Amino acid sequence: MPIRGCPKGGAVRNLAVRQAPVMLQSLRVFLAALALANGLASLAQAPPELFDVHLHYNDEATRAFPVADVLRIFRANGVTAIVATSRPNDGTRMLVAAARENPAAAPRVVPFIRPYRTHADRQTWFSDAEIYTLIETELARGIGYRGIGEFHVFGAADAGTAEVGKIVALAVARDLWLHAHCDEAALEALYAHNPNVKVIWAHSGFTTRPEALAGYFARHPTLIGELSYRYDVTQDGQLTPAWRTLFAAFPERFVIGSDTWVNARWEQYGEIMAWYRGWLAQLPADTARRIAFTNAAGLFAGAPGR
Ligand SMILES: [Zn+2]
Repeated sequence: MPIRGCPKGGAVRNLAVRQAPVMLQSLRVFLAALALANGLASLAQAPPELFDVHLHYNDEATRAFPVADVLRIFRANGVTAIVATSRPNDGTRMLVAAARENPAAAPRVVPFIRPYRTHADRQTWFSDAEIYTLIETELARGIGYRGIGEFHVFGAADAGTAEVGKIVALAVARDLWLHAHCDEAALEALYAHNPNVKVIWAHSGFTTRPEALAGYFARHPTLIGELSYRYDVTQDGQLTPAWRTLFAAFPERFVIGSDTWVNARWEQYGEIMAWYRGWLAQLPADTARRIAFTNAAGLFAGAPGR
């Protein structure tokens, strides 16, 4: 309210007018400091980027979750890169196409060839000569396949077949990863075909104890452990001492994955990623970043995408 005819009031008003720029300046400095503090806080709390290395976009998933929906799921969960696989391989090619059409809306997509045409192939692929042809046909598409899998094989006999040997030889010759859901005997059989084969071990053997995993990593320098379904990593939400020791000893050998093998896993995608974030936050920041993203990024350096 103007204070007319009052020298004192005028002086106050004049002072206020003179001080206004100074106050404004202070306000700006204060707001800038606040914005910086907020920025730093959100940076500190920013969830690490995630690389989902174990993902299936099978035919039943493509019907329930169209491509636009799964891209939204990835963005909502900070998943900026994926290994895409599907049964049959059409779902993978849909994701590759989506990433090419609109890279800004999609994660980086690293495609793997799934050696299954139907669910039944899971039981027989390792002794089915037609699967090699399937793999060659997919490779000939030239869409940047970087691996074969996830496939399932158990026991030395099934993993030791001539058909599997041929696929291992192809993987080594073409520098492709194998993504193997297998027991310990089958893992050794894969390496017996060729010790240089590169294997992502789905679920890190599923039930193989962390202490035993250390031996496998030491013995096979090309072995990477994938961690989906390894709910034994935590107990009551806390990293167990055995896993903490293993992550400290082999920080460069682990990757994470959602394993969306049934549609229910797509529905739980947010929960699965939140579980990873929960225990990754208990690791040293560098180790967490490696397991969450950079280990996988290193495996597929030079692959298409960002
Ligand atoms: Zn799987």
